Amino acid sequence: MQITIIASGSGGNATLFASRGTRVLVDAGVGPRVLAQCLAAAATAGALGSTSGSTSAWTPDAIVITHAHADHVGVAARYNKKHKIPIYASEATARAAHLGDPERVRLFSPREPFAIGALTFSPRPLPHDAAQVALVVDDGARRAALVTDLGEVPPGLLEHVAGCDVLMLESNYDEDMLDAGPYPQHLKRRILSARGHLSNAQACALLAALPGGTHTVALMHLSENNNRPDLALAAARDALLGKRARLLAAPPRGPLVLDTAPPPGAARAPLAARQLGLFPGM
Ligand SMILES: [Zn+2]
Ligand SMILES: [Zn+2]
Repeated sequence: MQITIIASGSGGNATLFASRGTRVLVDAGVGPRVLAQCLAAAATAGALGSTSGSTSAWTPDAIVITHAHADHVGVAARYNKKHKIPIYASEATARAAHLGDPERVRLFSPREPFAIGALTFSPRPLPHDAAQVALVVDDGARRAALVTDLGEVPPGLLEHVAGCDVLMLESNYDEDMLDAGPYPQHLKRRILSARGHLSNAQACALLAALPGGTHTVALMHLSENNNRPDLALAAARDALLGKRARLLAAPPRGPLVLDTAPPPGAARAPLAARQLGLFPGM
């Protein structure tokens, strides 16, 4: 299974999962042009599996929406209308967001697995100020977890993501930067709350408790005002010390391509400072 992180952060979120001819976009929080450009770049890089090279070949088979915030639901309704593809969402999300033609909206239960082609999605509710889910995506051979937009790590989440080959985990803010930053008090309180976002320290607590089996960790949804990739990566590297995992920070705009198959040599290589230099500005 190949994963293409197209965008991550408050400016928009979209991640494509591709395996054995099935391509599913999770969240559609970026404009159609950015989405098309990133899908084209990912296709050129071979991350979408076999395509004919035409633009329509880059269109996903379906879109899964994690929750009704604009940075995640963005262009879902337009995709529904233009490409006539199904949009999957929980009932609460479908009620709170406009997802386009209801005939193509498919409801899922936030605790029950559902399949789209070769991929099985296992959701789990997350504490956030909208009905939100973590997703474990399984193609029968490998598993990847996408966990963003949560105010705290709820009971059972660690077990839900344990053993996933790839973990994409929110590391939204550095507490000192948020405290000293320009946001108004009510916004700081919202981010800090148990239904807000996950701090670097909270992400690290989960990473430190993560059992073996995860070969790649991508830090997601980093705030551009209240965090720095080097801070988030340094903290996560410490938390993962002794675990054999590759560590990355997702940039606000991708594409960043991850493979659920272990990278050659990665299983033997401890977390290294070289990972810090993967993206500009780190
Ligand atoms: Zn978000
Ligand atoms: Zn959100």
